[in-house]
Amino acid sequence: MVKELGVAYYGNLFPDRARQDIEEMSEHGCNSILIAMSEYDWIEWKKNVFSICQIAKEFDFTVYINFWAWGGIFGGEAPSFFLHNNHKYRQEISTTGVKVPAACFNKPEFQKYIFDAIKILAKKDFIDGFFWDEPHYYYTPPTAEYFTCRCKTCQEIFTDFYKKNMPIVLTDDIIKFKEDMIINFLKEISIQVKEIDPTKKITVCLLPPPEVTGIQDWNRCCAILKDTIDVFSSDPYWLLYRKSLDYVEKYTKITVDLATKYNLESQLWCLAFLIPRKKEIELKKAIKIFDDYKVDSIFSWCYRGAEGTSVASRNPKEVWRVIGETYTELKAKYNLL
Ligand SMILES: [Zn+2]
Repeated sequence: MVKELGVAYYGNLFPDRARQDIEEMSEHGCNSILIAMSEYDWIEWKKNVFSICQIAKEFDFTVYINFWAWGGIFGGEAPSFFLHNNHKYRQEISTTGVKVPAACFNKPEFQKYIFDAIKILAKKDFIDGFFWDEPHYYYTPPTAEYFTCRCKTCQEIFTDFYKKNMPIVLTDDIIKFKEDMIINFLKEISIQVKEIDPTKKITVCLLPPPEVTGIQDWNRCCAILKDTIDVFSSDPYWLLYRKSLDYVEKYTKITVDLATKYNLESQLWCLAFLIPRKKEIELKKAIKIFDDYKVDSIFSWCYRGAEGTSVASRNPKEVWRVIGETYTELKAKYNLL
């Protein structure tokens, strides 16, 4: 049964204005918020990020922090200070050694960068959980024979494990190795959070196919992480891939079944950006599918249909209205706060 209704929030860091926005979310049926916190927000606006979390708590919202596009390895458009300042810790293309704009999961320097932020954030009582969003390697075409990353660190780890040199072209060993490295990384950062505060909720959100640079073996991922995380999530953004709502249903079922199998809560994300005109009603239908499958948590990306951004919906006000109407119905159905 649905317990949580929320949206992703970013683009404003003035607490008084955020208060108005959170009030508006509440009027649209939300009881949760995901703060999409870019590296810029974290480094330059920390105090206001904290204030916005505290305001959301005043509305009795559950507050999640998303390391939005950090290092280019989590989903999203936000730029990365880490990549800007650390060219040498970028992923490398296997065939050429060319560095690409995504941090290598295996570099201790990148891991420390994330750990340092977690050490501060996980101590805050106004933050309820963390959201590991679409962890992925640098996007490469599905048909590419090359891969990332084949940096020195990755080669050493691969050779240690497989007792052979790391191949230059994509092989089954490489696909498995890469997924293992992402899963290990997610496990490490989740443990870091839980060691500071075991009550913090950890959500892992995986991109469904056709995306192939993240984790494709969802079952294996859940099996390994089941004791470390709390929520398994995915975001079947049907319209981005010109798919029908059958695609939403397919991945909703897979997500909920896996969450149930591993005793995790389930979460589904509704696409609420880049919505073409006259397609707004499909959001209501997608959310109904989530509810039919008894999803625990429903979120939409993002607040106000991404109005004014590079991924704005054609009619963001209508997108936001439909979400508000649908959430309000669910809120009443389940008697949510
Ligand atoms: Zn590497």
